Amino acid sequence: MKIRCQNCYRVLDRNEEYCKSCGEHSEQMKRAMETGNFGGGPLDRFKIGALLFLILAFFGNGIIMITLAVIQKDSNTDLYKYSYGLLISSVVALAAIFIVHYKDLIDFFWNGNKEQFGRCFLLGLLGVIIVSLLSILTNATRVIPNVYTNYLQSGYARFFSGKDSNATFILISLICVVLVEEIVFRRLLIDAIDDQTMLGDVMVVILGGLVSTIADFAWLMSVETIITSLIINFIMTWIYMNSNRSLGLNVLLRVLIIVIQFLIFLV
Ligand SMILES: [Zn+2]
Repeated sequence: MKIRCQNCYRVLDRNEEYCKSCGEHSEQMKRAMETGNFGGGPLDRFKIGALLFLILAFFGNGIIMITLAVIQKDSNTDLYKYSYGLLISSVVALAAIFIVHYKDLIDFFWNGNKEQFGRCFLLGLLGVIIVSLLSILTNATRVIPNVYTNYLQSGYARFFSGKDSNATFILISLICVVLVEEIVFRRLLIDAIDDQTMLGDVMVVILGGLVSTIADFAWLMSVETIITSLIINFIMTWIYMNSNRSLGLNVLLRVLIIVIQFLIFLV
């Protein structure tokens, strides 16, 4: 977080109690030096990420859906609202979160060692198999909302046409959702929990998994994906914590889960 000189509005460096440019004393910098809290720590980063998620993803999606329902009265399908609501909110949220947090994502791909990769990969693969099987078994344990699975298996789903949606929009939306969730609810959230609490690893996995599942539900608003979302979020949080804070494998696994959904329901 920036601290500015109250006289000339220059951005002060760390520990610059007296402005090097105009000599003005900064009360804010003095306090920061006393408390050691210069802002910009993991908790502050998570707060910004969570705020962007709340405004652009959660409220954004709701507002877009209501707007679409009003202006497109003759379109009777929920698919239209859900599809465009999620497409716009996910692309906008991802762009904003990426721009604000790109410095926190430079080392996102892989920071672990080979043994960690082996363990994480096997657990991840197990997760992929479990949620894929669950998604076929019942329509109460889907991986992607029923409004999408119904469309994909309806026989008239196409990649480049369709009045109310198309498979490309759904794919883009879901990949953006995955990226937003991994950035905000893995990197920013888990780093904040780790920094602010003394919780053990198991508690961090449980807490992180629950919070990200609630956020996922608030955004996608589909009861049928809660169970698979819980499984996915627990596993992804575990992988994040056991791979020296890597997001790469999580992103690959989650995209794989979506691709499998398309193979199951579209092909
Ligand atoms: Zn100054």
